[in-house]
Amino acid sequence: MKLQETLMTNTISHKQEYHYSVKTAVGVENLEPYKPTSSIDLIYEKKNKQHFKLDWNESTISPSPKVIQAITKYLEGMNNLNWYPEILSHTLRKKLSKYTNVPADNIIVTNGSDDALELINKVYVNSGERVIVPEPTYTHFYVYAGQRNAEIIKVQPTNAFKTTLDGILNEITPNTKIIYFANPSNPTGVMYNERQVRTILEAAPHAILIVDEAYYEFAGISMSHLIKEYNNIIVTRTFSKAFGLAAQRVGYLMACDEIIENCLKVLNPKSVNRLGQLCAEAALDDVEHVMNFVRSVTESKHMLKKYFLLRGVDFKMTPANYVMIYHPMVKDLVKYLEQEGVYVRDRSSQMEGYMRMSVGTVEQTEEVMKIFDKVLEKLKKLEKDTLS
Ligand SMILES: *Cc1c(COP(=O)(O)O)cnc(C)c1O
Repeated sequence: MKLQETLMTNTISHKQEYHYSVKTAVGVENLEPYKPTSSIDLIYEKKNKQHFKLDWNESTISPSPKVIQAITKYLEGMNNLNWYPEILSHTLRKKLSKYTNVPADNIIVTNGSDDALELINKVYVNSGERVIVPEPTYTHFYVYAGQRNAEIIKVQPTNAFKTTLDGILNEITPNTKIIYFANPSNPTGVMYNERQVRTILEAAPHAILIVDEAYYEFAGISMSHLIKEYNNIIVTRTFSKAFGLAAQRVGYLMACDEIIENCLKVLNPKSVNRLGQLCAEAALDDVEHVMNFVRSVTESKHMLKKYFLLRGVDFKMTPANYVMIYHPMVKDLVKYLEQEGVYVRDRSSQMEGYMRMSVGTVEQTEEVMKIFDKVLEKLKKLEKDTLS
């Protein structure tokens, strides 16, 4: 036999001989992978066509020019890409301290805020312990709690666009370890107020309340001052949304000394990459850029509200950079929008008939509304055709 053939025969018999699988950790067995739907591939495919990427709540504009200057300077100079990043993101934490009014020692920078959510679950949740989440919610969280084999309690509010404080309180048991919600919620924009947050913190002193403030810059309301008063609250935030740095993966959490100490035992201190650190630092040197974008988004939301009201379309405003639109033919609506280069997120799996759309600048929104004119006309025709 030639060497080539021998090798091939060996490979085959090797495979047959070792036919078995390795069992996963308990929590992983029944886990559903988070399904990110991003239109990036489609957009790259259609290179030159006009597009509006409104499916993932990212910023619709570039980050501050200062960000680009900072990384260009770094890459062209003594870039030190051969070195590990700055340990624990010291410089960034100092800048964040000024931005948040929280001491640098009470901040941990993470690889996106998803990384913070995962870290908290690792530090606090044992197999079988209870994690409470009011729905509908940011579902990626379920992967992190599921991985710990937590008993996940999904609280269904009577109205998806209202808070459900009693629903949460009723589920708190001695076995409860984490209560999680995004504030404002993704996708509904529902917000718990400070009184409600305090009530939960006091009803469950043995559990961590995670307040996910991914959209803080748009909503302008934070619970971060409560970390001074309560030993069981963690506030998470991100540079992925208003700051326009989703590609760089930088987020952070804020909490009391004791929680920080516990999280530091598990944190990988080099998980935030150097370019991410530099981008976030530079972005904080130009908060004005972010605030201008936030103002434009707010104006856009009001324009959209008027637009849909006039056309009798059910429209839900949120304090964040997205809105919800109801349509009985939501699947067709999403498809038609996509044909015109407007990428939105069908949320009907969570909420029947609803799509979520990120909101951009006033100029972009004007263009999007023109496309809606066309698409709503098409839908009306389709409705007529299906009826007759
Ligand atoms: C987008 C989003 C995140 C993820 O943020 P990253 O910092 O990019 O990991 C977390 N929570 C909510 C509610 C979000 O909408």
